[in-house]
Order: sequence, then C-alpha cells, then structure tokens
Amino acid sequence: MQLIDPIIEFHHELQAIRRQIHANPELCFEERETAEFVAGKLTEWGIPVLRGMGVTGVVGIIRNGNSDRAIGLRADMDALPIQEINTFPHTSKNPGKMHACGHDGHTAMLLGAAHYLSRHKNFDGTVYLIFQPAEEGGGGAKRMMDDGLFTQCPMQAVFGMHNWPGIPVGEFGVTAGPMMASSNEFEVIVSGKGAHAAQPHKGIDPIMVAVQIAQSWQTIITRNKSPIDAAALSITQIHAGSTTNVIPDNASLVGTVRTFNPEVLDLIETRMRAIAEHTAQAFDATVEFNFKRNYPALINHAQETAFAVEILQGIVGAERVDAQVEPTMGAEDFAFMLQDKPGCYVFIGNGEGDHRAAGHGLGPCNLHNPSYDFNDDLLPIGATYWVRLAEAFLKQR
Ligand SMILES: [Zn+2]
Ligand SMILES: [Zn+2]
Repeated sequence: MQLIDPIIEFHHELQAIRRQIHANPELCFEERETAEFVAGKLTEWGIPVLRGMGVTGVVGIIRNGNSDRAIGLRADMDALPIQEINTFPHTSKNPGKMHACGHDGHTAMLLGAAHYLSRHKNFDGTVYLIFQPAEEGGGGAKRMMDDGLFTQCPMQAVFGMHNWPGIPVGEFGVTAGPMMASSNEFEVIVSGKGAHAAQPHKGIDPIMVAVQIAQSWQTIITRNKSPIDAAALSITQIHAGSTTNVIPDNASLVGTVRTFNPEVLDLIETRMRAIAEHTAQAFDATVEFNFKRNYPALINHAQETAFAVEILQGIVGAERVDAQVEPTMGAEDFAFMLQDKPGCYVFIGNGEGDHRAAGHGLGPCNLHNPSYDFNDDLLPIGATYWVRLAEAFLKQR
C-alpha cells in the first residue's frame, strides 16, 4: 500500500480522535459537541471554518494557489439510537446512543486528510472538508445544501466514503451508476367497523382487509415491475386490535420500499395505492394511504468514478479495488449531493471484526449492530485516499 508517511506518523493521534468521538456519540442534528470538537481541531490546525450549516454542519476550507478549481470531501458525524454492548474503554458514554455506523471513523479520516492538506499544500485550488450532521434519517446533506453549501462553497465535484464490513481491510468497492437504493416509507390505515368477535357479520373486519392488501402488494414486485429492475417492498409492522374477543375498528400496515430507479418507484407507489384502495372498497372498508420518499437512490457519476478508481488503484493496487461492486438496498443521503454535483461514493473495507478490542459484544461487527466498532486500521488508508484524490483533482499546472 502506498500510504502517506506523515499520515502514518499521525495514526496514533487519529485513533485517539476517533475513539474520543466514539465515546461521545450524538444523534441527528444534536451533534453540538462533535461539531465543536471538529471545528476546534480544524481551527487548531489553522484551517478556516464555516459553522452551523444544516444546523450542526461544519465546513473546513483549505485554499492554495489561485485556481478556481475546488473539490468537496464529505464525512458524516451522527450516531444511532442504539445501546452499545461493547465494554472496551472507548465505549459510548451516552446511554442509548452509539456510533454503530462508523461515522466516528469517517469524521476522523477526513480530519486526518485535513491535517495533512493544511501542512502540505501540493495542489492549486480549494478543498472543502464537509462534516455533515444527520445522515441517519435526518437528511443532513440536504439541509446543508438548503443552507447554501454549494453556493457558499462552489465546487466542481463532491466525493463520499463509507466503511463497509465484510470487505477486507485495504480493499475498496465502488461502481458507476446506482450503488445504493432510494428509501421510502409507507403507512396505510385500514378502517373497518369493530364488532364482537363472535358476531363478525355485524362488523367490517379491518384485519382481513389488511392481510389481503399485504399479500397482494407482493404481486407488484413479481407481476408489475420488470424482473430486471431491482426493488424491495417490506412490510415491517402490522398493528391491529388489543384482545382476543373484539374485532377492532382499524388496522395499520407500515414498511419500506427500496429501488434504484425513480420510474420503478412511481410504478410501485401507484400500484400500492390502487391495490389498497380497491381492496378496501371490495370489503366495504376505507384506507388512508401515506407514502413518503426519504432518500433518493445514490447514483455515482461515471467520469468521477473512473477518476476515484484510478486514485484508489494507485494506493492499494488494482487487484484490491472492486470497480463493479454489487449495489446495496441500503440508503445514504449523500445521494442528494450527487443529484446536484458530479461525484462518487466508495466503500472502504472494514474487515470482518477481528480488529475489535477486548470487551466487544458477542454480536457481529455489522453496521447498526450494538457490537460494531470502526476499524482504526482504516484511518491512514481513508485519509490517504482523500489527500491523493484532492491533490490529483486540483493538480498544479
Ligand atoms: Zn447507518
Ligand atoms: Zn452510515
């Protein structure tokens, strides 16, 4: 691996930074201490900072030379509402909150790049270091954009990175085009008419209607959309009733839809509504249909992806970069940034979990798992990628 020596020498400090953030997790739009910590480090290293963009977002700005070329490098800072079960020294000090998605590591890797770039300005232009809040459902990327991220910080391209358990350490995965799915949620409330459970003919049973809808919806996936298009429709909650001998008035169906393609999503939503409404009508019930689109699909731009792959291959070798990694149905709000700016998002291998210090929980080292921990071996690898990417993008003429 062609890692940058001063970054390797800074590894110990980066590990301390990462563990400090891990021990003090904060949830969506509450990242006040984390933002303060990040801004403090940047300021200490002489990097000008913009604060409060997207509530708690921070942007560090490193300029050199006189080119108007600029690149954005983005990390996320928020944690999850999970009770950590690890007991190693840097375990979460905040009950019910945990860095179980590795955003502590993402923040530390970008700080590592910031530290190096502020001291070795081998580029001509501007590097924007974007530390965003609220990736886990809050759409912090969008909030920063709404607060003028790309107008106050004009840039030609923006890049993102996420650790990925299961990909070996020192390897990367990326693909041009769709890499992560759009996330959308629905809640459908079926209203019938309650009755004594021994006299069902005197009511309209909303549970029967909900079950019919639930089953029929799966035919959208198998009979309506093309088999070539990927989509998942998962009902994750069915709620109705509270006792054994009463037919309730209402039943609700809650869940998520994931797709890569907006037209497929339109089709699924339209068919879900039609099936829900017509099924209810057939049974003399009514429905309230709510469908909410959260994050769009994450679509990597071809040119910037080819560029990122070339940089990665220069660092870890061609055989350790999977440039056609299998897309995932997980979602990511960096997708909003890629709708506005060309760019690329990559997975950096987090390994299988052997890195975890003594005292980790018995669960797997998977994202959103209470036994997860970010792999500190990635810190110099990720930081080197950010630096080489920025230097190549802003190559001095
Ligand atoms: Zn996550
Ligand atoms: Zn994440």
